[in-house]
Amino acid sequence: MGSKIISGITSDKSVRIYVVDTTEMVEQSRIIHKATPVSTAALGRVISATSLMGRMLKSEKESITIQVKGNSDIKSIMGIGVESGNVKAYISNPDVVRPAKANGKIDVGGAVGDGHMIVIKDLGLKEPFIGRSQLVTGEIAEDLAAYYMQSEQQPSVVSLGVLMDQEIGGVVAAGGIIIQPLPNAEEDVIDKIERSIEGLPAISTLISEGKSVEEIARIALKEFDVEIMSEKSVELFCDCSRVRVEKALVSLGTTELTDILETDGQAELSCHFCNKKYLFDGENIKNIISGLDGK
Ligand code: ZN
Repeated sequence: MGSKIISGITSDKSVRIYVVDTTEMVEQSRIIHKATPVSTAALGRVISATSLMGRMLKSEKESITIQVKGNSDIKSIMGIGVESGNVKAYISNPDVVRPAKANGKIDVGGAVGDGHMIVIKDLGLKEPFIGRSQLVTGEIAEDLAAYYMQSEQQPSVVSLGVLMDQEIGGVVAAGGIIIQPLPNAEEDVIDKIERSIEGLPAISTLISEGKSVEEIARIALKEFDVEIMSEKSVELFCDCSRVRVEKALVSLGTTELTDILETDGQAELSCHFCNKKYLFDGENIKNIISGLDGK
């Protein structure tokens, strides 16, 4: 099956919609980060949001970063997306355990806490665009909608969801929806969107029932006629390399590197995003130190 994303527009050109099924991406990231159900749910929502916002970019040179920084157990989640909708993602605490909320749902908001959402759009210009907004609930979807309103004055409906198998801990379904009225839309379009999404089941429920992203777009905008503009598969990616990891070692400086050399004789670094391991043996570290001393 694989993860899939679509973009669509209503035939009256008043509203655009993006829908992504990230079930496979989120399950893969759960395995990479060895994440608990609560951490997976939070990470998965950020992955879906990043994929949707990435797909809104205009060219391959652009990228988007969503950072959620909270004062509770999770601390920090980061998603980096590109125009294809592919995402790399990181969570600082994959081990969070919390009781479910009174309604039986995973307590993502409690695990994130109060804090900020930071969105960095690198559009290939000199300076990236950086937007920052206060977290509203820590549930990610409401926070992203608030970000859009505060930072971009863009009304948006955002739905993000991850359904976990509570016994096995695996991802049953994950995905997201973003609906936005376009600038030329008539005034009553917001009401029409609200009528459309009234009673809309959670995105993860719709995916777990076997609905395709295209069907979900039509259900979510049932008051409109939706034209699908693009459909493609999406996946997790990583662009880490030995050269990049070596830069992190270089930044430690001579004293610390000499200490590592004398204590461990080698250094193993793993990529925060994909967990790939890079081993630097004693000879490698000596070379880095002599490179530093030569400066
Ligand atoms: Zn990596």
